[in-house]
Amino acid sequence: MIDLRSDTLTRPSPGMLAAMVAAPVGDDVYGEDPTVRELERRAAELLGQEAALFCTTGSLANLLGIWLHVPPGGEVLCDSLAHIARAEMGAHGALHGVTMRTWASDRGRLVADDVLSMLAIDCGPYLVETAAVEVEDTSNFGGGTVQDFGQVSRLSAELGRLGIARHLDGARLANAAAATGRALSEYGVLFDTVTLCLSKGLGAPIGTVLAGSAENMARARVQRKRLGGGWRQAGLLAAAGLWALEHNLPRTAEDHATARTFARAVAENVPGGVDVDAVETNVVLLQTRDARAAAAACESAGVRVSVLGPRQLRAVTHLDVSMEQCAAAGAAVGRVLAQAL
Ligand SMILES: *Cc1c(COP(=O)(O)O)cnc(C)c1O
Repeated sequence: MIDLRSDTLTRPSPGMLAAMVAAPVGDDVYGEDPTVRELERRAAELLGQEAALFCTTGSLANLLGIWLHVPPGGEVLCDSLAHIARAEMGAHGALHGVTMRTWASDRGRLVADDVLSMLAIDCGPYLVETAAVEVEDTSNFGGGTVQDFGQVSRLSAELGRLGIARHLDGARLANAAAATGRALSEYGVLFDTVTLCLSKGLGAPIGTVLAGSAENMARARVQRKRLGGGWRQAGLLAAAGLWALEHNLPRTAEDHATARTFARAVAENVPGGVDVDAVETNVVLLQTRDARAAAAACESAGVRVSVLGPRQLRAVTHLDVSMEQCAAAGAAVGRVLAQAL
């Protein structure tokens, strides 16, 4: 079985496991886990921020990041495809009283003017105030779309001038950086808070880092504990994250090459099933008549993909699938989708 449902499916490699077992640990609630501290120091440095906080998941890191900026009853603006809007179980509203307004986009692609035209500033007792804007790079449900750096920079500068906070959901920021050739820090400095998932393409079993100012990270540490997310000898997991940053971060672009190979193989069998030119990173969106039925048929043919909508499937490449496997998987999925037409 070739499993392309997500890049979260990777298993820790022998080298990563060895690093985990060897890690010096302590109680992180007391701030005494040296490996967690080292991961937070390294992540802050990579992301161009003062400090970082190691969290269980990307959802928790986003929950804390948005909480830092948006008071109860305030709003965050985001893409209608955003993970915070669609895939975090309503946590921002359910737990923190945050409201959201969303903008429409072409495959998750940010257009600064569209966002700036939505801001609600100084509206008195009439309209909800915009407290923050959230950007996702790459856009997951957009299909691994890489944001235009000029658009992101311009939005960041305008919001900075207006005093509106900026949060970057960088679950797959490593993929965006690999695609553009930019450093993670070039993105990080444009935002007040930024996340980076260690458990996606970077291949760690668990964990996301949130980065921002030292003051904000100290506040987030308290709220993380309040939510039950304080942890103890988390250095075992931080060691996997450090290993991932050192060994897997530099190989991220390989997953983009395998995704293109997969997409081309699909297109050879069913040209209308995939837009090969839209594959920018490690995510491939597939179109079909009945996504559930097609996913089941793909599984019978030895490939797992995920159902994203009634007519949409998603395949994601990662470090546990080789070029050969992706070529074979693309051909198999392409044959299934061709039959389903
Ligand atoms: C995966 C992902 C997250 C975090 O997911 P968790 O499962 O909570 O770690 C956040 N944002 C985006 C865009 C993602 O793809």
